[in-house]
Amino acid sequence: MARPYTRGWPWARAQGGGPRDVAGDGAFAVHDAASRGALRLDLSMEIVPVPCLRDNFAYLVCDGARAAVIDPGEAAPVLAALRARGLALEAVWATHHHPDHVGGVRALAAAYPGLAVAVHRLDAPRVAAALGDAAGAGAHLVVLEDGEVVTLGAVRAEILHNPGHTLGAISYLACAPGDKEPPALFTGDTLFGAGCGRLFEGDAAMMQASLSRLAALPAQVRVYFGHEYTRANLRFAEAVTPGDAAVAARRATLEAALLAGQPSTPSSIELERQTNPFLRCADPHVVAAVRARGAEPSSAAEVFAALRSWKDSF
Ligand SMILES: [Zn+2]
Repeated sequence: MARPYTRGWPWARAQGGGPRDVAGDGAFAVHDAASRGALRLDLSMEIVPVPCLRDNFAYLVCDGARAAVIDPGEAAPVLAALRARGLALEAVWATHHHPDHVGGVRALAAAYPGLAVAVHRLDAPRVAAALGDAAGAGAHLVVLEDGEVVTLGAVRAEILHNPGHTLGAISYLACAPGDKEPPALFTGDTLFGAGCGRLFEGDAAMMQASLSRLAALPAQVRVYFGHEYTRANLRFAEAVTPGDAAVAARRATLEAALLAGQPSTPSSIELERQTNPFLRCADPHVVAAVRARGAEPSSAAEVFAALRSWKDSF
């Protein structure tokens, strides 16, 4: 079920220098003030990328001293980041069931009793297996469906079910009422910097529909992806659309960032629309590129299928 995500974000209403709508969603603010006993004026979200394994990113989402972690592929770097900042971990927000995204869940659940582990219904059984006997420490699954919301203090994250990489793959669209930055989208292995995940469980039409839905989010939304694959993905983008100025500019920016030791995450929906070939299945240049390799696509899904199979052997 498609739902509009372009309206009503508190950060959008706060633009223009007028009085800041600290309350954001009124009902939410009332609940928040009641639960804390006082009205906070700094309801904002902080995001900390945590490199894991070889090229994975976990992310801490923080509200004050409380934290949730997206996709902890291993526990040690996440525990170190939490302790360095004096944060208490309350939840794991898993984008899908693969071990390089939930491999740290069991150890985190042992370290933080009562940990909530959020996951889509279709990926829940395998994440439950990753959790193992941590239920003894009070850890519990929070089984999600599309459109549901998880919260961490003032932070709200809406679930977007985007099947294709796995059948239960989800993204989290997160913001807090006082954010100065646009909302953050945590995409796991569905949308990467200039690329997308492989089709392990879904088909091309399913993945293309999932990516189109993400691409329709507001341009300013920040995209936090699950792997540092951006350089290799941009090489593929250059092969698909040689001479593309936006792709070349992104490559130059990326090389400077990597040289300075900075990750390529986050990007933005706007940057992905411009430079990610998998979001450009209706672009005449991309269609021409797959035709030149012998494909005869009659739909965006077929263009996507040709691109995905090209990239798989690139
Ligand atoms: Zn994966």
